[in-house]
Amino acid sequence: MEGDYLKLPKFGRVYCRVSRQPEGQFKSVTLSQTPSGKYYASCLFDDGKEKPKQSADGKAIGIDLGLNEFAITSDGSKHGSPKYHRKYEQKLANKQRELSRKQKGSNNRRKARVKVAKVHEKITRCREDFCHKLSRNLVDENQVIVVENLTVKNMVRNSKLAKSISDAGWGQFLTMLKYKAEWEGKTYIEVDRFFPSSKTCHHCLHQVDSLPLEIRNWECLSCGTQHDRDVNAAKNIRDEGLRILRVRNFEETSKCKTHSRQAAGRVAAASGQRVRPAKGTAFGGIAG
Ligand SMILES: [Zn+2]
Repeated sequence: MEGDYLKLPKFGRVYCRVSRQPEGQFKSVTLSQTPSGKYYASCLFDDGKEKPKQSADGKAIGIDLGLNEFAITSDGSKHGSPKYHRKYEQKLANKQRELSRKQKGSNNRRKARVKVAKVHEKITRCREDFCHKLSRNLVDENQVIVVENLTVKNMVRNSKLAKSISDAGWGQFLTMLKYKAEWEGKTYIEVDRFFPSSKTCHHCLHQVDSLPLEIRNWECLSCGTQHDRDVNAAKNIRDEGLRILRVRNFEETSKCKTHSRQAAGRVAAASGQRVRPAKGTAFGGIAG
């Protein structure tokens, strides 16, 4: 790579727009072409840095993925559903209509097809941009990120919502959250056990029998807490993730305790005691 040029085998020097100056040692390059005819080269570099060690000490956040709002977090903020789709929907429909009027096999049809592809790509890029920014903020501000597993989520939903779900780009969003968290030694957890995150009061764990989708706010009959439907769900997701972490932590420390006991008897057992975290220390600040 030299400035704005990329040296490729067989092609020679090719002008390109560089999104980010890479560091480290060049490994490989992958070329791709989009349906509208643009070329992309993605280069793999090894920066020689090791992945940071994962830690779970710090702020935890639960994220509920929604349809009215794209994502709702346990701290009460709502991240609006991306509006780009509605904005470009009309444009897409127009271009598709133009395409259908063109004669098959004609040059004009080919041009119209490229125009449709361009709108599709615009939508994709807007969605990516939205997901990148939101996942970046969430990872920067939190140490532990808990989300619902999508297969569970989709099972709960009915098929009418399926289109909106794929439009919402949840899968892509979760992938971004995961790798961004891993890059920075943060903890990403998917809660895959089915549990009624919406219908359970996060405060006293009382469960209501039914909570139709149109009910956005409710009061817990048992403890009287006022709930915003989605924020309550996000809090339950966070708490479930923290519970999983505690179990994991406990398993790891008891494993290491048994191990060191076998290895060096009483002395090691004592150090095993020390690494075991006091109950609730890591999460004391955020459990409430
Ligand atoms: Zn309650």
